[in-house]
Amino acid sequence: MDKLVLILGDQLNFDMSSLQGFDSKTDKVLMAEVKAEATYVKHHKKKLAFVFSAMRHFALAVKDKGWPIDYYRYDASDNCGSLGAHVEHAIKQYQPNSLVVCHPGEYRLLEEISGWSERFNINVQICDDNRFIAAQSFFSQWAEGKKQFRMEFFYRELRKQTSILMEGKQPIGGKWNYDADNRDSFKSVPTIPAPSSFSIDNITQEVIDLVDEEFASHFGTLKGFHFAVDREGALRVLHTFIEERLCDFGQYQDAMLEGDPWLYHSHIGLYLNTGLLMPMEVIQAAEQAYFDQKAPLNSVEGFIRQVLGWREYVRGFYWHFMPNLKTDNYLNAARKLPNFYWTANTKMNCLSQCVSDTQEHAYAHHIQRLMVLGNFALLAGIQPDELNEWFLLVYADAYEWVELPNVSAMVLFADGGNLASKPYGSSGAYINKMSNYCKNCHYSVKEKTGEKACPFNYMYWHFLHRNKSKFENNPRMAMIYRTFGKMDDAKVTRILEDGDIFLQKLDNNEEV
Ligand SMILES: Cc1cc2nc3c(=O)[nH]c(=O)nc-3n(C[C@H](O)[C@H](O)[C@H](O)COP(=O)(O)OP(=O)(O)OC[C@H]3O[C@@H](n4cnc5c(N)ncnc54)[C@H](O)[C@@H]3O)c2cc1C
Ligand code: SF4
Repeated sequence: MDKLVLILGDQLNFDMSSLQGFDSKTDKVLMAEVKAEATYVKHHKKKLAFVFSAMRHFALAVKDKGWPIDYYRYDASDNCGSLGAHVEHAIKQYQPNSLVVCHPGEYRLLEEISGWSERFNINVQICDDNRFIAAQSFFSQWAEGKKQFRMEFFYRELRKQTSILMEGKQPIGGKWNYDADNRDSFKSVPTIPAPSSFSIDNITQEVIDLVDEEFASHFGTLKGFHFAVDREGALRVLHTFIEERLCDFGQYQDAMLEGDPWLYHSHIGLYLNTGLLMPMEVIQAAEQAYFDQKAPLNSVEGFIRQVLGWREYVRGFYWHFMPNLKTDNYLNAARKLPNFYWTANTKMNCLSQCVSDTQEHAYAHHIQRLMVLGNFALLAGIQPDELNEWFLLVYADAYEWVELPNVSAMVLFADGGNLASKPYGSSGAYINKMSNYCKNCHYSVKEKTGEKACPFNYMYWHFLHRNKSKFENNPRMAMIYRTFGKMDDAKVTRILEDGDIFLQKLDNNEEV
């Protein structure tokens, strides 16, 4: 055998770099559903069912092409349990000239794979990860010599390099960013097209039964599984988004609505992150919708900024700042994650709703993750490891390369400001402005202190007070500290007392 090509569970595309030049006469594909990857955190049941089903569908497509493949199901008696063990077994069996694998998405796996050449005495070829538009070196070169690493400027470089939404050297429409047009909330409950939904075929039913049996203690429910599990389905999700929701994506991208996490978002993160969709085809589909006058510029640019900007940026950021990013804790946050992140049992309606959406769908949209689930963790001083583990296991699109920068750097400011110029913390006013959660809450968003007051209100000031030495010289926070400084002493005392009592309740695991 010439090449043994290892395909990981998030590399499910025939365009993967590792499959280029595959010769069915001399090469073989190796895929395995392994315990080590499925259990290193207790992934949401829907995420596991999605990944296993998508892997099995991809393996079938490989077979249909007439390519040789060894595929190990999770419950197969000859499953070796880890990627390394499967690779060792296949090398002994076939004695290939080389092992080919696309660069993995996670640092932990890269470290392991980098040791295989010596461990198994074989030539290991790690190909560039073409699930991204920018090469890893593009970020390092851009970051070289910089003290601040702002996404906006990285994004502009990529716009120029790819000519996406450009007129010569200028951005189409004259502006790089239409965020100012993209901050509306819903004035009444809107009628939004339902998310794409797929019926469960035999393969998916088999993995649902498997996950139900083998991963019963994992987070979330399998009920209502409706994800696409192959490339054809993922393309359908993309095109339905472009036709039905892209038009309103921009205007409502920050809005939240009780009982509906899907809104006008694209719901493609899980497909992009497993290779079922490639980023450039997604971006070009959105750009074409603008040229065809199907969607306005604020929506199209807003969406493209998520994929070409944020997604490419966090991936470059991850590799640039690893391994330190994993242990960073600039604010010395030390609190355990409250139990309600697992159960949704809290009187704070916004948090209860966002955790429930997450349990049910393995999905919550960006602002729910950032400004509710993340914001609370920042204000309460939750330890980065605790929050990272939670975010890594609860979402169907979660992989460390994207989860860790979003959680540690964007949400918790644990990196000390490499990603964000100031923390994303806010009081209840922001949540009230962007959602209808506060209407059905036990707490009152209008009240600043006292038993009925929204905890986000006093916790916001409590956070600023606790971390004053870290932020008071930050120019972007000067105004808020001036406002704090002007508050009368009695009010400050009440705020700090309420914050202390609340945090004590969290520590005692009392209901809040
Ligand atoms: C605390 C926190 C944790 C997150 N964890 C993940 C994660 O594990 N996996 C993940 O893919 N995204 C993560 N995100 C980013 C974002 O919330 C999700 O990509 C998005 O909600 C997925 O839903 P969607 O496909 O409907 O996205 P849309 O809102 O329709 O956006 C389109 C696409 O843009 C990309 N994108 C948007 N924002 C980001 C971002 N901040 N970072 C990277 N890509 C982005 C995604 O690929 C997404 O699918 C996280 C954000 C926060 C604040
Ligand atoms: S009042 Fe406060 S806790 Fe309740 S939903 Fe609004 S922001 Fe959340």
